[in-house]
Amino acid sequence: MNFARRMLPAFCVAVLFTSLIGLSSLPCSAQLAPSQPAPASTAAPAQPASTQAYSLPPDKLAKAITLSHIRTALDIAGSLWGLAVLWILLATRWAADLAAWAERLLRRRWMQGLLFFAVFLVITTLAGLPLDAIGHAVSRHYGISVQGWGSWTGDLAKSLGLSLLFGAPVLLLFNWLVRVSPRRYWLWIWLVSLPLILISVLASPLLEPIFNKFEPLIKTHPALVARLETVVARTGTKIAPDRMFLMKASEKSNGLNAYVTGIGATKRFVMWDTATDRLPDDEVLFIFGHESGHYVLNHIPKELAGMAAGLFFVFWGSAAFAGWLARRFGARWQLSGPDGIAPLASRQGFLVLLFALSAASLILQPAGNSFSRHFEHEADVYGQEAIHGLVADPQKTAMGAFNHLGEAWLEDPNPSPFIEFWEYSHPSVQTRANFALHYDPWANGGHGRFFDK
Ligand SMILES: [Zn+2]
Repeated sequence: MNFARRMLPAFCVAVLFTSLIGLSSLPCSAQLAPSQPAPASTAAPAQPASTQAYSLPPDKLAKAITLSHIRTALDIAGSLWGLAVLWILLATRWAADLAAWAERLLRRRWMQGLLFFAVFLVITTLAGLPLDAIGHAVSRHYGISVQGWGSWTGDLAKSLGLSLLFGAPVLLLFNWLVRVSPRRYWLWIWLVSLPLILISVLASPLLEPIFNKFEPLIKTHPALVARLETVVARTGTKIAPDRMFLMKASEKSNGLNAYVTGIGATKRFVMWDTATDRLPDDEVLFIFGHESGHYVLNHIPKELAGMAAGLFFVFWGSAAFAGWLARRFGARWQLSGPDGIAPLASRQGFLVLLFALSAASLILQPAGNSFSRHFEHEADVYGQEAIHGLVADPQKTAMGAFNHLGEAWLEDPNPSPFIEFWEYSHPSVQTRANFALHYDPWANGGHGRFFDK
């Protein structure tokens, strides 16, 4: 649901941009749509005998089920295709040819490397284009995206520009590390990636205006900001009004979303204008409470720490796997080249490492998602507790928000548990709505997990 959420081709870009665009913002797919606010059981007899906390009218249900199958297929195809492209580049020796071409063309080694990795990034982007386009066409067909093809192509070009600007030099740097330390390079790459990830999280809010328009939320929604301030007061967060932004998402999407992003001096709360325009203020308050939970519970630093720890083993394991691949296929793929350089240290040899890293990130996807779902659930609990006393009925409000969210994104009310485990960065909307419906710690004079009352 975010732009560039699938920038899989090159893992370096993944390291940089996963954190930049994926991890750094914790998108909160809890949308609230314009239709009926799906009230609690007694008030909502319109839905025939549904005992589910999240339900869709029949026409939308059929669409949501088809769409969830398409999304899953595209996701799997995208991951496998990313691996296949790397394998094809190596097995056809196109990668070796490209490295040789760059060497003939330019004299300085670092410029040869920059050219090689820049062309590589262009190739992987072009290779991913068909699947990206199908994804966009599907999203438009189901009325979720309203972004024209011209604008979509423009975004793609901007993403590629960022990849070339930041990704190519980082790949070159990592490649150089393999060259100077053929045995311990994975450790140096890990060490160097830590500050890079931190920088990318810091810089992410500054790069987002390249893709979307932002303005201070207070400019157009002063009354809403005043209500959000009541949540700020209750949570004790220091989200000043000048850190609250409205994103003009409606130019591109019918989806509903909000997220927190940045760290330290750049951290901020962003609400999509689709959500402020179509959701009751109470539900916006809940979403804000959820996002505040990400702040208060330090989810971004925790995710970064988890990622840093995970990457240590990922780089170590990938280096071992890449070493095996190089021994097995090195000669056939012409990894060493004419200058007798170590197989993995050549330009084309570095793609072997990228292949190993991409395979690792595919295998570890469920682990990452499990962590993410845990944090999202915590934020849901926090959000519901945060609006207690500020809205008439926190349970109903949260459930309404989830129903609106699910309807706007056409979320399948009953996804397969395996798909949810493997692919969902958030618990399913059904799981979240169900929890919201039954979560009432104040019932017998009790209190919640995060607030005294
Ligand atoms: Zn969230």
